[in-house]
Amino acid sequence: MLTTTRRAELVSSLVRDGYREIALYSAPAGECEIDLSDNTNLWGAPPAALRVLATSATVGVSRYPVAYEPGLASALADYAGVPPQMVACGCGSDDVLDSAIRAFAEPGAVLCLPAPSFSMIPFFARTNGLRPVAIPLTQRLDTDVDAMLETGARIIYLCSPNNPTGAALSRKAVERIVDGAQGLVIIDQAYAEFGGDSFTDLASSGRPVLVTRTMSKAFGLAGLRVGYGIGAPQLITEVLKARGPYKVSVLSERAAIAALDSDRGWMRDRADDVVANRERFRSALAERGIESLESSANFVLIPVIDCAGTSRQLEGCGVRVRPLPGLTGIGDAIRIAIGPWEVMQRCLDALATADPSQLAPTLGEVT
Ligand code: PMP
Repeated sequence: MLTTTRRAELVSSLVRDGYREIALYSAPAGECEIDLSDNTNLWGAPPAALRVLATSATVGVSRYPVAYEPGLASALADYAGVPPQMVACGCGSDDVLDSAIRAFAEPGAVLCLPAPSFSMIPFFARTNGLRPVAIPLTQRLDTDVDAMLETGARIIYLCSPNNPTGAALSRKAVERIVDGAQGLVIIDQAYAEFGGDSFTDLASSGRPVLVTRTMSKAFGLAGLRVGYGIGAPQLITEVLKARGPYKVSVLSERAAIAALDSDRGWMRDRADDVVANRERFRSALAERGIESLESSANFVLIPVIDCAGTSRQLEGCGVRVRPLPGLTGIGDAIRIAIGPWEVMQRCLDALATADPSQLAPTLGEVT
């Protein structure tokens, strides 16, 4: 039992280190007819996974999963084209990212990430006692390789395609970072199925590289929470140690394996639909004088004058998007996930009701 004094000391040291300033993640609340705020698969979940969930819900649930889910790791490895020892699963790729950050840097070390990028990374860095250092993207919204390397960070986080800009990183930039980094390089490829280069090969390059991916996006299984990391076997062992043995439920494991065995075609067709609808949506926006950033992901980013106001207006029309205030180098923006065309048409109709002066006229004016 902690004594009162010791507890008070611990609490004050956490406050001193800024831990208490970390807010709980606040997800959009309440129902909305069309939810384009979280980049999930808007066609739904894949059929084989749903069949497994419907028919096996009570089998085996009184027992723990097999530690570290070797069956799921093998199915993911087969999909990713790597040996099973190179895969660590997790409760979403969030879990793999958090575990890797904990495994590869001591409290007080620097984690370097681009700005803007995935908003959970500074959170994971700080909850693990690391200091997040955000390096602004270049004017062309590309990674500033030299500035990132100059931080001497213990962990460099990259995201390709990047959330929220949608931009895919060039192989040259990623390779320069991998060659020059002083510690672990994490390449988050949650949106890899929708565009850009795959960097899985760099996980076998002999350098400390962890590529993270997920079944939450193209595979349509966000609610089951299945993500994975790909890296050299020794690196994967360290991630698993930091993660702990029982992080994926037996039902999630079973459904995910079914999807990996039987739903790859379904997933590929949906990802192709995303790419076609994304380009059609961007052209329709351009015809209406609304500029969006080029995207290799399943969402597009639109700079606006006031993201809260624009989002409220769209939500009033039954369409929820993600407001992103004050993005570095961009300013306010809204992020819109891509789904079936009827849904995108509803979004276009809702945007037509927005005050045009609130939608930033040209990206040329973006600072
Ligand atoms: N990385 C990126 C870039 C993301 O956008 C997300 C989810 N929004 C994740 C990782 C985490 O996804 P999950 O935990 O569902 O795998």
